[in-house]
Amino acid sequence: MTKVLLTGGSGFIAAHILEQLLAKNYTVITTVRTKSKADLIREAHADLVKSGRLSVAIVPDIAVLSAFDDLVAKIASGPDGDLEYVIHTASPLFFTFTDAQKEIITPALNGTRGILEAVKRSAPSVKRVVITSSFAAILSEDDFTNPNATFSESSWNPDTVKDANRSIATGYHVSKVESERLAWDFVKKEKPNFDLVTVNPPLVLGPVAHSLASVDAINASNERIADLLRGKWKAEIPETGPVDLYIDVRDTAAAHIKALELPEASGHRLFPVASRTSNHEIAKIIRDNFPEFAERLPGPEVKGGEHVDENKAYKWNCDETNKLLKIDWIPVEQSMIDTVNSLKDKGI
Ligand code: NDP
Repeated sequence: MTKVLLTGGSGFIAAHILEQLLAKNYTVITTVRTKSKADLIREAHADLVKSGRLSVAIVPDIAVLSAFDDLVAKIASGPDGDLEYVIHTASPLFFTFTDAQKEIITPALNGTRGILEAVKRSAPSVKRVVITSSFAAILSEDDFTNPNATFSESSWNPDTVKDANRSIATGYHVSKVESERLAWDFVKKEKPNFDLVTVNPPLVLGPVAHSLASVDAINASNERIADLLRGKWKAEIPETGPVDLYIDVRDTAAAHIKALELPEASGHRLFPVASRTSNHEIAKIIRDNFPEFAERLPGPEVKGGEHVDENKAYKWNCDETNKLLKIDWIPVEQSMIDTVNSLKDKGI
């Protein structure tokens, strides 16, 4: 059975990648930071853990360059078949940091370098590494309001570490673009046995995994849905922000699996985008479909978070990705319905 190492298995996107890999009969070794997160995944897949198709390893901090060394060496020397693929999703995604370099840029860079070096050194059987990058590595902040700018698979965020303190968002964008640059440079210079594919999703929304401990542990990109359902948008809907391109988490996961499986994806940056959305649209969809939350939701008269004026915003083009992946993206309405239902299961 084909063996995959998936880093950051407790994450929002990785949880769906894990489900899809297991459904496709891959053998998966996934990493998490703590024993409690490992136990949640093991409990959710007790049969597969027992049969040896899933194992969960603890890697406490990817900021430590050698974090993956022992694990990768151990997997590579194991008796039950070679490691063929690595999907690296682990990277900090939160917006409450005070020191961008220390809290998000260094972990993102060292995590990327650490996994690539460990695989090159100890696991020559690996054919492909798929890295979760981001639209943050594609966009250019100067062009957010430029209707003549088009972001695509070939666009690169020009910012570097020296720009990281411009804003909290910039700090995160820099962590992603610098770690993606590092990965492509590594493959070019080191010429490892494996090739590289990156997946560069925009705003990822969608249902939370069963192994999420509680709504309080919700990931950063879904926080807006939890805020809406908890009544925080009742008086005014917050601005959507310039990253208003959306993709469902299940499609994001499917893009990772295709990135791993399709020979022709080799060397590509994949930019999966379903549509533009807005906080206003999200609030309307949820109001129309979940009358039981009416008390906490903004009424139709409440302003804010409207769709961007297309004449004052960047364009995007993901034709290359669509041609390669051929996925019918889940529309935002379906995604929001499924997200709210998953949060209801978690007791919101
Ligand atoms: P999550 O916060 O749910 O996942 C991040 C993962 O990285 C978690 O598993 C987290 O562990 C792990 N992690 C973070 N810092 C460290 C560290 N120092 N040491 C070890 N592990 C660490 O967010 P997402 O699932 O949304 O993000 C996954 C990837 O997707 C990231 O690379 C992110 O940049 C990228 N992405 C996400 C988008 C989105 O809208 N969600 C959009 C574009 C890209 P733990 O569970 O313990 O916190």
